Amino acid sequence: MKRPLWPEARNMPKILIAGAGIAGSYLYRLLVKRGLGLKDIIEVVDPGSATRCGIPSCGFATTRQFFTLCREVGLDPDKYILASPDTGYANGIKFQIKGHIFSIDKPGFIRDLLAGATVNSSTGDKVAERIVDATGTARAYIGKYEHDIIYPCIQKKVEFSHPHALAEYPHNVGYSWVIPLEGRSAHVGIGSNTYNSEAMKKVVESLAEGARTICACKGFIRGTGPILPLVQGNIWAVGEAGGLVDPLSGAGIIPAMVSAKLLVDHWDDPKGYEAAIMKKYGWFRKSASLVEEWQNKGTLNTGKLLGLWRQYAELAGLDYRVLSLARIDLIRSMLRIALRAPKMRQDESMK
Ligand SMILES: Cc1cc2nc3c(=O)[nH]c(=O)nc-3n(C[C@H](O)[C@H](O)[C@H](O)COP(=O)(O)OP(=O)(O)OC[C@H]3O[C@@H](n4cnc5c(N)ncnc54)[C@H](O)[C@@H]3O)c2cc1C
Repeated sequence: MKRPLWPEARNMPKILIAGAGIAGSYLYRLLVKRGLGLKDIIEVVDPGSATRCGIPSCGFATTRQFFTLCREVGLDPDKYILASPDTGYANGIKFQIKGHIFSIDKPGFIRDLLAGATVNSSTGDKVAERIVDATGTARAYIGKYEHDIIYPCIQKKVEFSHPHALAEYPHNVGYSWVIPLEGRSAHVGIGSNTYNSEAMKKVVESLAEGARTICACKGFIRGTGPILPLVQGNIWAVGEAGGLVDPLSGAGIIPAMVSAKLLVDHWDDPKGYEAAIMKKYGWFRKSASLVEEWQNKGTLNTGKLLGLWRQYAELAGLDYRVLSLARIDLIRSMLRIALRAPKMRQDESMK
């Protein structure tokens, strides 16, 4: 039998979850599922976002891991799947992704995760014994990181006039995407270390040519890998606040959920939490240095990228030990990225 996390919940201190993005919301739901269904001891705080969908800018692409993680908190994953595209493009490179990549209704998912929670816009003067910093790139509670790397992104939600064929648009500005959503709509965006917003906008306009714009937003992706310590005093970092996003692919939704789960599993064990995170996502530091090297030298290191195929397979929700076909496909795709990776331009004036 599982030991209850909180044998006498009534006596427990107040827990503040700062940030109601994917990490904070999933953590809230996990805590409730594990028997802490008492609103008065968990407080969720988030100032909210002025974006049309109500959450900070983000893409909605996830992998197969979403299904298990969703069921784990008693939600039906099928409710949130908007599309499962056949093919994808990353910087003009075509991938077969059917069954591997799914776009989800992220705002709807977050809403359901937070069912029953009151989300306050500020903490007021209340003091919490445990603070979970789930504030993403802000790191509003655990504090700034001296060597932080934050890549700017811009994104639009658009509606194509025809079932959108994913466009191929070669450029050397950064990492761009077109992610199909419901109907004929899609997210079109770019993240770039060129810091050249005009060039970034041009790529997005070209990818979305002829489509009707529904909304647009700006955002940032952290490019560091895990930032230690994840726990400082009574503050625990989770999700992107802890650097848990893959700097190369920009995938942060699954790591945010997994890190919340690891936090709950190691609730009273900060060292155990850090060790579990490093075991799972320590390799993000390697992909961070790959991106940095790509930026500095202008070419992507093929050998280093291929060295991470197992980790990428796992991030995609594939069992690399048995799925040999998927493995071959993945290696082939990674090789194509490496060989055709565009040179990155550095526009110093935009920094
Ligand atoms: C343009 C873009 C596209 C992306 N596309 C994808 C994708 O397709 N797939 C994918 O897996 N990942 C994608 N990512 C990355 C992914 O969105 C993030 O890694 C993930 O959302 C991180 O979740 P989080 O909960 O840790 O942080 P966030 O989602 O950033 O949530 C942080 C929350 O904290 C709140 N907050 C901020 N400051 C404070 C404060 N002082 N007090 C309280 N709350 C505060 C914010 O309002 C926000 O709600 C993308 C990111 C960007 C920017």
